[in-house]
Amino acid sequence: MYTSIIIHYDEITLKGGNRPFFERVLMNNIRESIKEIGYNKIYKEGGKIIIEIDEDTDLEKIKEILKNIPGISNFYFAVSEEKDLDKINKKTVELILRQAQDDKRQAQDDRSDKIKTFKIEARRSDKKFKFKSPEINAKTGEYVLENTKLKVDVHQPDLEVVIDVGNKDCFIYFKKIKGIGGLPVGTAGKLVSLLSGGIDSPVASFMMMKRGAKIIFVHFKNKTINNTGDGKIKNLVKKLSHFQGRSKLYIIPFEEFQKEIIAKIPSKNRMIIYRRIMFKLAGMIAKKENAKGFVTGDSLSQVASQTLENIGVIYHSANLPIFPPLIGMNKQEIIDLAVRIKTYETSILPYQDCCSFLIAKHPETKAKLDEIIKQEENLEIDEIAERIITEIKPEVV
Ligand code: ATP
Ligand code: MG
Repeated sequence: MYTSIIIHYDEITLKGGNRPFFERVLMNNIRESIKEIGYNKIYKEGGKIIIEIDEDTDLEKIKEILKNIPGISNFYFAVSEEKDLDKINKKTVELILRQAQDDKRQAQDDRSDKIKTFKIEARRSDKKFKFKSPEINAKTGEYVLENTKLKVDVHQPDLEVVIDVGNKDCFIYFKKIKGIGGLPVGTAGKLVSLLSGGIDSPVASFMMMKRGAKIIFVHFKNKTINNTGDGKIKNLVKKLSHFQGRSKLYIIPFEEFQKEIIAKIPSKNRMIIYRRIMFKLAGMIAKKENAKGFVTGDSLSQVASQTLENIGVIYHSANLPIFPPLIGMNKQEIIDLAVRIKTYETSILPYQDCCSFLIAKHPETKAKLDEIIKQEENLEIDEIAERIITEIKPEVV
């Protein structure tokens, strides 16, 4: 029975002069993600985005998609009606009865009526509409009282019915569905995310998407020690693509670098130098992609490479700013978020990260920059890097 979806956006409202740009990007992102399901029209009206849909549209599917689009604060399924109070009243009752029926069907063993009370909340953006909001509340409320068994409860109603008189149509709806908020992907520019197969880096990537960054994924892989294929990494990217649309993934072969490092670097420093090289290679990808920085899943002191000293020495190798959004989060908080964004179940599948293969029994925890730079001078990796990065092509997942 629903004919429209009304979308309220999040922080875009703070954006003053840039607002049309943010709105345009959000509309495009929405259009792109729902094009397979199909819709009739999408447009902007008075600080909201409205999608017109066919009555037989798969609401569950479209709900799952909209819940994952950064920039959407909340949305509603609504019916539209002409701006005529008699028609609005009839439609409101029809909608309430339908909802009560649906709820009853869902709670099969509980035969009692769950929806016993209601409240009408009228809004009037069309100031020329002849009834003011309190009058609509009173008149429609009365009609609902006469034509259903429901009672009014203005404080804690089981059902809150919004009657939104816009400039073109009137929308009637209830049940707010929460989105993830934040800003539309793409409004901040691009970032290269260093994606391992672990729990943390997918969560970090999600957090930066939510702040408007379009993420380009880079994964370093040693094919010899990890011959399980790229399925796990691609699946992680696929899950993250629910939030930003199709994503580019670069899988960079790492074994040649690893051989050089193992041959020339004492084991306690290998991890640090390995991660410095990762940033240099990721920097070459960032240049290709015109990205403005990096994302990592670092969390302070979680593992040996994440002590303050080591983070300082590792990040020093990057030519662009690094954003580690999990830096102050506890492992459990990160896990909770991984579960919520549905990357957790993939992240915990077995996978030998080329990085963990390098871990020494007693890794350095207080690296010194000059010492590390000196050891790095022995490495002959520039040509390898140049060749690999020139040849590499991203996959679109
Ligand atoms: P994660 O759970 O994200 O793997 P972690 O706690 O295991 O993180 P490390 O293995 O030290 O920590 O890695 C720290 C960060 O370095 C990762 O979050 C990721 O951004 C990056 N990283 C590590 N290994 C790789 C890899 N093979 N490819 C790309 N990035 C990597
Ligand atoms: Mg890891």
